[in-house]
Amino acid sequence: MSQVFNLRSLRPVNDWLARFEDTCRSRKIRLTAQRRAVFEALAADPGHPTVEEIYLRLKKNWPSLPLPTVYRIVEDLINLGLIRRVASENGPLRLDANMEPHQHLVCRVCGWMKDWRDPLWAQTPLPSLLSGGFMAEEYDVRVSGLCRSCADRKPKVKKIGSY
Ligand SMILES: [Zn+2]
Ligand SMILES: [Zn+2]
Repeated sequence: MSQVFNLRSLRPVNDWLARFEDTCRSRKIRLTAQRRAVFEALAADPGHPTVEEIYLRLKKNWPSLPLPTVYRIVEDLINLGLIRRVASENGPLRLDANMEPHQHLVCRVCGWMKDWRDPLWAQTPLPSLLSGGFMAEEYDVRVSGLCRSCADRKPKVKKIGSY
């Protein structure tokens, strides 16, 4: 009853990593071990991590990689079109390794995000040319709500008469 949406993971990390390496090779982008590690750490995290969260995740295997370097690598990967930022109204920049069109479930308390794909949006054609010559590229749809840990932290309201 509580499972309203299909929360199937949409993160085929190994496929993305293979595609990442292919793209670097074909576009002659320098594929350093550090760039690969940052991409992998991002791809493996379904919550669309911040740069700090990527840094913390890397700390175990890359203890000498400083935070400013992680920032620089993330910036490079964004500029190269290999990862993208996801807009969040408040809070820090969040990142996405999923370059396919998709939607997001967004926690309105902590900003956590999860990929979500509604077949409805995949089937809905984009409007061709909008006012002012605006060129539509993709639907950026988000479903706002509470993630599991924020929902658990919310004080439970006791139902009267239910035992
Ligand atoms: Zn949350
Ligand atoms: Zn995403």
